Amino acid sequence: MRPIRRGESPQENYNSYLDARMDLRDRIGPYCVYCECYFAPSAGFPRVDHIHPQSRHPERINDWQNLLFACDSCNGAKKAFDPAQELPVFWPHLDNTWRVFFYRNGFVMPHPDLEEEEHAQASRTLAMVGLDRFDPSNPPKPGGNPAEILTARLDAWNLAARMKTKYDKADHPEQLANDILELAKKTGHWSYWMTLFQKCDPIRERLMSTAHFPGTRRECLEPGPLTQG
Ligand SMILES: [Zn+2]
Repeated sequence: MRPIRRGESPQENYNSYLDARMDLRDRIGPYCVYCECYFAPSAGFPRVDHIHPQSRHPERINDWQNLLFACDSCNGAKKAFDPAQELPVFWPHLDNTWRVFFYRNGFVMPHPDLEEEEHAQASRTLAMVGLDRFDPSNPPKPGGNPAEILTARLDAWNLAARMKTKYDKADHPEQLANDILELAKKTGHWSYWMTLFQKCDPIRERLMSTAHFPGTRRECLEPGPLTQG
């Protein structure tokens, strides 16, 4: 889960949170902050996610610091999840969400090396947005269309994996770097690309760049005790 920074509010007040969508897109890119799917411009504006739900915190409905992007699947699973009432989860705008998750074959899971408490927190995070529906050890639950969503995620992973194979076999792999970047931007699922290409500096550099993926918190991506990939 890409760790992001959306910064201070670009304007003092929004009359409606819908007016913040353009600024959000500029600050964090056109991606679901949870599953990282891409919102194509032709599909209109991404859905705005209220961290503190509108139904319980109407005073924060237009508060920039309360807004993120989420796809219908993640937003639908989250419903009125209220951080004030629940056990802690990890948030991509607050925590190092790159460190605590592990990506393999289109699935996301808590990093296996996490301590028990953090592991539970990572699991709760995936459950909050329904990403645990896609855990291979967890049979699908009703809600959304898991089969369709899973297929899209597997396709994205497989595309990234094919590009990695191509990159490894190329005589001049650096010449592929910009094409791979463009594919990653248009496919989304940044963490898949980051996982597969983390040892390929030209790609890794591009994926970490806020010029390409706005709002990425680069300081969270330095190699640490929990290894990815
Ligand atoms: Zn999503």
